[in-house]
Amino acid sequence: MGGFAFYHGIPGAIGGALRMNAGANGTETCQRVVEVYGVDRTGAKRTFSNAEMGYTYRHSSAPADVIFTGALMQGEVRDKAEIRAEMDAVAEHRETNQPIKSRTGGSTFKNPPGNSAWKLIDAAGMRGHRIGGAQVSEMHCNFLINVGGATAADIEGLGEEVRRRVRETSGVELEWEIKRIGTAA
Ligand SMILES: Cc1cc2nc3c(=O)[nH]c(=O)nc-3n(C[C@H](O)[C@H](O)[C@H](O)COP(=O)(O)OP(=O)(O)OC[C@H]3O[C@@H](n4cnc5c(N)ncnc54)[C@H](O)[C@@H]3O)c2cc1C
Repeated sequence: MGGFAFYHGIPGAIGGALRMNAGANGTETCQRVVEVYGVDRTGAKRTFSNAEMGYTYRHSSAPADVIFTGALMQGEVRDKAEIRAEMDAVAEHRETNQPIKSRTGGSTFKNPPGNSAWKLIDAAGMRGHRIGGAQVSEMHCNFLINVGGATAADIEGLGEEVRRRVRETSGVELEWEIKRIGTAA
């Protein structure tokens, strides 16, 4: 079944991908979803059409209390060798462009419309910038990495410093793609 190679290398399970509208290489979950099944806090089974999922870039507006239990997705019949080659290309792209062997949460900020977060971060002079054990990756500056003993405060502080410098240099307000949980101590 073709059409799903873009998922290759995105860590996680389908529930998170449905909620986050996970995507890569120009394809997103919303382009494959027909309908999504879930259970709400009252225990009622719910079904959401693609439109009802309210998908936008790395976001779904389905009710926050719904736990997704499954989805119907549409692929396309494709040759197995062709799919394997596509998956290999996706993996190679990741390995050569992203610090996937480092400790990282993945892409940190959403790409602003018509721009790339990494380009703005680079232009702000933040490539390689470090706070404690947290560093803006030299390889791909939209990735924050833990180079040893980084605390949550290091990572979040570095992210906020990146946002501040980008705001100062380009006027763009970067939006976190990574979900932060809890409150600062
Ligand atoms: C190295 C690296 C590379 C990455 N590359 C990409 C990439 O290319 N593209 C991309 O989109 N993301 C990428 N990510 C981010 C992440 O892997 C994806 O967003 C993934 O889809 C999250 O899935 P998860 O199962 O880990 O969800 P979690 O992170 O556990 O959850 C994400 C959100 O979904 C909700 N959720 C999880 N499961 C369910 C469920 N069953 N029902 C309802 N809500 C649920 C959670 O409450 C949370 O709000 C990357 C992360 C890393 C570390």
